[in-house]
Amino acid sequence: MSAQKEYSFFQSVEKSFDKAAKFTKWDRGLLEQIKACNSIYSMRFPVKLDNGTIEVIEAYRVQHSQHKTPCKGGIRFSEAVNEDEVMALASLMTYKCAIVNVPFGGAKGGIKINPSNYSVYELEKITRRYTSELVKKNFIGPGIDVPAPDYGTGEREMAWIVDTYQSLKPGEIDAAGCVTGKPITLGGVRGRKEATGMGVFFGVREVCNMADIMEKLGLPVGIAGKTVVVQGLGNVGYHSAKFFRENGAKVIAIAEYNGAIYNADGLNEEEVFQHKLLNKTVLNFPGATNLEKSEDALELECDILIPAALENVINASNAPRIKAKIIGEAANGPLTPEADDILALKGIVVIPDMYLNAGGVTVSYFEWLKNLSHVRYGRLEKRFSENMNTRILEQIEELSGKKVSEKEKTFIMHGADEIDLVHSGLEETMISATHEIMQVWKSNPEIPDMRTAAYVSAINKVANSYVELGIFP
Ligand code: NAD
Repeated sequence: MSAQKEYSFFQSVEKSFDKAAKFTKWDRGLLEQIKACNSIYSMRFPVKLDNGTIEVIEAYRVQHSQHKTPCKGGIRFSEAVNEDEVMALASLMTYKCAIVNVPFGGAKGGIKINPSNYSVYELEKITRRYTSELVKKNFIGPGIDVPAPDYGTGEREMAWIVDTYQSLKPGEIDAAGCVTGKPITLGGVRGRKEATGMGVFFGVREVCNMADIMEKLGLPVGIAGKTVVVQGLGNVGYHSAKFFRENGAKVIAIAEYNGAIYNADGLNEEEVFQHKLLNKTVLNFPGATNLEKSEDALELECDILIPAALENVINASNAPRIKAKIIGEAANGPLTPEADDILALKGIVVIPDMYLNAGGVTVSYFEWLKNLSHVRYGRLEKRFSENMNTRILEQIEELSGKKVSEKEKTFIMHGADEIDLVHSGLEETMISATHEIMQVWKSNPEIPDMRTAAYVSAINKVANSYVELGIFP
């Protein structure tokens, strides 16, 4: 039995926090304030089901920190939702936002239901009623608290939330910014779908570009030629695999819940995805070998392992057999604390979830900014840049007497669209965050791993905002 069962999810976040807090200079009182969940709204409300019966729904919204406002965090629909879990996830959001310099406090929401047990009409009623409850208690708004999709929710639910909010707050000019992850037609931003997988790729690539880290691992610098194993071919796993492959890495194995496949020459995620759609499994993919058990994929010899499915998949029992050199935590919580300790001893570099899968919240921030500015990214400057680039090219051609190829011309003249700006903003965010965490890690040889360094970086940033308020020394 793993020791993780001895403490709750929130307590395990507190444990990681305390482990990192030792490497900071902050006063105990300030650290206690940072750790605490500031506002917890536990609610019950009735919903009339399609069969005429009334069900009392249990739901939560937790605002962990208002050191920056609004608060930000997803809403999950799951039977496993409880107050402790929502508190833990809200805390993680505070640290995640701090790490990637997204100026929000952390929050999280949850409704304790299994969405597949309800009709679409019932789900709409539940979502709209939950939103009204948040409005009643001032727990939602573009300047207060901005939810987003999470486990069991998506664009559809976000559309219901913004519609409910707007009807209860008529005339509020920034109302579209009350929630992110919306459909584009309701104020969503392009690039949200691939954001987390792309962020995973940018983060791992940055670590692979660090000569000292690669030297310790006995690997060449860069992504090209590295072997990658991906667990979970969902949104995050699919997009991570896509960006690794497109940038010259070889995805040698893909694992799904009902099987895993291996091909030393590399797999194409889109072909595997189509095969899975058709056959309901990745098994028997042409040219690949089936693995006996899906979990075996985690123990394959590879340079980079990307767990992108579930929590706790690498634990005390399989950690000793992990052969990857780098683990990029795309999923939330794929390693138990016990696994963390074992892998650190083996010298495996674990790039922590709290920062590596922050692409989603980063692009959510861009969506919120778009909603507040009421204009699509690139609308004002795209044509201007294209005209300017054309002029510059014409001048170069005229002065040099040489012609630029049509392909290069198209590339250079292109003015940035919304998708270009979102992708480059995400790339910049992940690169800066990687360097900030690495700087903290390298500044103190006693910091045991990158996760602790990420926490230290987050704690310092949150603490500094309190210090600037003059509340704490
Ligand atoms: P998803 O539901 O799209 O994909 C998950 C995939 O994992 C599915 O294809 C599922 O079949 C597969 N899977 C389930 N059990 C498995 C098992 N035992 N072995 C192998 N595969 C298994 O979900 P997602 O949005 O890709 O999220 C994946 C993880 O990333 C979750 O932990 C989530 O919390 C985290 N995450 C997601 C986002 C996001 O933007 N989607 C952001 C941050 C973190």
